Amino acid sequence: MEKKITVIKGDGIGPEIVDEAIKVLNVIAEKYKHTFHYSEVLMGGASIDVHGVPLTNEAIDIAKNSDAVLLGSIGGDTTTSPWYQLDPTLRPEAGLLRIRKELNLFANLRPAYLYDELKGACPLKEEITEGGFDMMIMRELTGGLYFGKRETKTVNGELIAHDNLEYSEGEIRRIAKRGFDIAMKRRKKVTSVDKANVLDSSRLWRKVVNDVAKDYPEVTLEHMLVDNCAMQLVRDPKQFDVILTENMFGDILSDEASMVTGSIGMLSSASLRDDSFGMYEPSHGSAPDIAGKDIANPIATILSAAMMLRYSFDMDEEASAVEKAIEQVLEEGYRTIDIMSDGKKQVTCSKMGDLIVEKI
Ligand code: NAD
Repeated sequence: MEKKITVIKGDGIGPEIVDEAIKVLNVIAEKYKHTFHYSEVLMGGASIDVHGVPLTNEAIDIAKNSDAVLLGSIGGDTTTSPWYQLDPTLRPEAGLLRIRKELNLFANLRPAYLYDELKGACPLKEEITEGGFDMMIMRELTGGLYFGKRETKTVNGELIAHDNLEYSEGEIRRIAKRGFDIAMKRRKKVTSVDKANVLDSSRLWRKVVNDVAKDYPEVTLEHMLVDNCAMQLVRDPKQFDVILTENMFGDILSDEASMVTGSIGMLSSASLRDDSFGMYEPSHGSAPDIAGKDIANPIATILSAAMMLRYSFDMDEEASAVEKAIEQVLEEGYRTIDIMSDGKKQVTCSKMGDLIVEKI
């Protein structure tokens, strides 16, 4: 297969971790006889330095004409970097918000997976994590409270603020379909999370999700209230396969789920729309404190590249080969500094990439 990949290395550790992911994609291409064409564009601080804006129209066009985007991370030290003296619309993060909008990426997918080998980093009790857990949070990314009308005004001498939470049937249907499609590739269970005992938007959410479920008879659907879900994530994370939820609930729950895995350098993410196109990036930021030292953990980015193979290119076997290689390297005791523990072998960012390539 032949695929066009837009590469955005970004700032901080971005270039280091993306280089390792490309090494891995190259060996996958060689082994499985694919051709990947890479086009590199700038975004974030790197683009501000060269073009004066965090994302150019040319960069967007290149991304639009590719099959997927692989992103490192953007941004600098928010207290010392000159990028943060600029108007908010010209800062690095504005590039990220713009590309998500321009590419219509409405579905955010964040896996939370506990590696047996990294159990020690998990803040939960051992009896809870016994057997590990493996869930996927599917969050609606372009609607709901974060995109509704908002206003702060003075009424009778007192400040009043309001934010509007609105979802249309169509917005819910497209994300629900995405959630069920993902569940079909996994353990075939969807937990739809809402607050249907209080909110009208949640009642519509539940109605549409029930409707979409009819097209997926193999998938078990359950509904859970968001407050209960927050509790269940730390009480028994094993019960979850795909968690399907709206924008704000997903924002909060996905951070909680990633926290219970205990290792930020291991968590990948994907932003998708209703065709196969997607943007793939680690869940963490640009880690300016460790940039340029070759000590960052590249695994989150490599796992994001594996998600790209699975969800944008329909290359399940290739994605599994990457994931298996990572597990083997961890089993053999190799660790970057962020996941290092007694008795393990500490390696650099580039060495970790090499080891994963060797296993593949
Ligand atoms: P961060 O995720 O960059 O770093 C938090 C801590 O985790 C740091 O100590 C860092 O060294 C460590 N860390 C992060 N990734 C690591 C890795 N792969 N290997 C080893 N250690 C790792 O969060 P922050 O410090 O709050 O933000 C730094 C910059 O990143 C800011 O400009 C922020 O706006 C930006 N940011 C960008 C994105 C994105 O591009 N999507 C997401 C979050 C934050």
